[in-house]
Amino acid sequence: MARLSQARLAPLNKTFEERTPEELLRWAKELFGDRVAAISAMQQAGSVLCHMIARYKLDIPVLFVDTGVMFQETLDTRDRLASEYGLNIVTLQPELTMTQQTEKYGVLYLDVEGQKRCCHMRKVEPLLAITGKYDALIGSLRRSDGGKRGECPIVAVDPELNAVRLNPLAMVDDDALNGYIAEHKVIVNPLHAQGYSTISCNRCTTPVLPNEPKRAGRWRHLGPWSMYCGINPTDLDDATSQAVELPQELVDRVLGQKTDFAI
Ligand code: SF4
Repeated sequence: MARLSQARLAPLNKTFEERTPEELLRWAKELFGDRVAAISAMQQAGSVLCHMIARYKLDIPVLFVDTGVMFQETLDTRDRLASEYGLNIVTLQPELTMTQQTEKYGVLYLDVEGQKRCCHMRKVEPLLAITGKYDALIGSLRRSDGGKRGECPIVAVDPELNAVRLNPLAMVDDDALNGYIAEHKVIVNPLHAQGYSTISCNRCTTPVLPNEPKRAGRWRHLGPWSMYCGINPTDLDDATSQAVELPQELVDRVLGQKTDFAI
């Protein structure tokens, strides 16, 4: 096994700034084969990612974490993307239902510390349960979303999942995203048209006003202290000192040291 740190990915990230989402997705499939998956929360950028996976015939499974308290519109979007795009969407679920969790711990999402525990149990732990199954996970974070995501790298390491995270849409701005959706008539969550700029659990998501930040509708009842759930490690602390352990041969290929497939 070999250590792959965020710092070692710096040259690759610099090169990838010039690449298109299609090139980055093809790179991931070529390099990681069956050990790469995508993850989508069934928001519009995730829909675009799903559309690209189908359009480029990449045969990459899509993971969806169903916390048990998602909006019906979100579940319907998942089902439409699976059936109309022919995608293999794998739904991951928490160990406890929300009712069981509430009986055991009370209503957690009403205060900041409880929200962190609830998000960890209902979002992070279901994803961590697949640790070891994939070496790379493709997400749909975009710098245009601002906040911590304003600087998200295209390639990152996820020490908890011990996998590489790829964000092929990182440099896609709002105009480009909306243009792609319009041009390809991408299936998107209908809640976006009702003022929800971002969408998660029905307990903690509200629409936003036109002049509010995009994430103002998330955990609105908690004030500005809760912005992210922790399912994307680059949303949290500075990840530059983080590292993962992967097979030496794979690390060499990721860093372009022993591969014929270079872009
Ligand atoms: S968004 Fe709210 S309900 Fe959903 S997991 Fe986080 S705290 Fe719990």
